Amino acid sequence: MYNDFVNFVHQLYGISDFVPLHAPCFFGNEKNFLNECIDSTFVSSVGPFVDRFEKEIAEYTGAKKAVVCVNGTNALHLAMILSGVKKGDEILTQPLTFIATCNAISYIGAHPVFIDVDLDTMGLSPFTLKKWLDKNAHIIGNECFNKFSGRRIKACIPMHTFGHPVHLDELIEVCLEYKIDLIEDAAESLGSFYKGKHTGTFGSIGALSFNGNKTITTGGGGMLLFNDIKLANHAKHLSTQAKVPHRWEFSHDEIGYNYRMPNINAALGCAQLENLEIIIKNKRETADKYAEFFKDSFDIEFFIEPKDCRSNYWLNTILLKDINAKEDFLNYTNDNGVMTRPAWTLMNKMPMFSACQTSDLKNAIDFENRVVNIPSSFRVNVENKIG
Ligand SMILES: *Cc1c(COP(=O)(O)O)cnc(C)c1O
Repeated sequence: MYNDFVNFVHQLYGISDFVPLHAPCFFGNEKNFLNECIDSTFVSSVGPFVDRFEKEIAEYTGAKKAVVCVNGTNALHLAMILSGVKKGDEILTQPLTFIATCNAISYIGAHPVFIDVDLDTMGLSPFTLKKWLDKNAHIIGNECFNKFSGRRIKACIPMHTFGHPVHLDELIEVCLEYKIDLIEDAAESLGSFYKGKHTGTFGSIGALSFNGNKTITTGGGGMLLFNDIKLANHAKHLSTQAKVPHRWEFSHDEIGYNYRMPNINAALGCAQLENLEIIIKNKRETADKYAEFFKDSFDIEFFIEPKDCRSNYWLNTILLKDINAKEDFLNYTNDNGVMTRPAWTLMNKMPMFSACQTSDLKNAIDFENRVVNIPSSFRVNVENKIG
């Protein structure tokens, strides 16, 4: 069985040796745009590609405004600052995520609280969130507080796991009821839509990542999405050392950060973005082929996008029915030229976060035991090859 899978993946990618989990693909204007940067000497933190990348991401996602960052982690850090998260606040998030979500919370001195995920999305469960808040939270004035710890509960950060959107309508409803800010970690979900609207544009702020392993890459990079222009302008200000614009004076009106993406990275991003829909179409075809391959399997289930969503299928996911099979499956595939990887260790198991509050984490634990990610790169060696 594992052997059939290994052969299938090699055939799918038209590669006979090593198939990586997610490799970047460059078949468009990448080299041209990078050359333009070098020829113009504009390789650093200002330049036409920075403005263009922001404008085009805003257009593509439907956000009112987008602001570039150096990476997704500092985009999330800025999102925390911009939404007024303060030291000692509690932030509701999911235990099944990449460490960056929780690190960004920690940079402020805030405390993550881990809420279980849904079985059909792998992302933060609105039902469990409401249950936890009903039991633990109350509203004083216009703010939400934890009845037991006494801390303010400031924001909720769901993450669209492997590109699959969470139940946003229901999450928004719970956050409104409890006067909690919604910030989306959309680092994995560029090109994923919930009921026709792009992920990362539902909350007050959304964060994207363009790291090398993401759907499109700028080498390293991130982006914040806003519906509020004033907040977006503040983000730009903070990411640029909070410098007050002036022809020659260096004056700064608050503590700022050097979080702005260089032009050379944005150039790569603009070229990648031109082919985003081609990349996603190709990735979704890969997902269809996997779904077909696993359709009659007794021991492996392929994870399908949630209802009413178009997922980017950033990382394809299988669920092993027998949790004792994971080690064998990982060993066999990685030994035989097919890169596979288990889900992240749950955040509440990390020493830094082991004392954090949690809801019942039954689904997250189940995913941790069963999830394996399988090769998901753009397939170059296929009929619809371009460039
Ligand atoms: C990739 C990722 C980030 C941001 O990562 P960077 O490498 O800093 O761009 C944040 N959250 C999640 C869930 C991610 O997968």
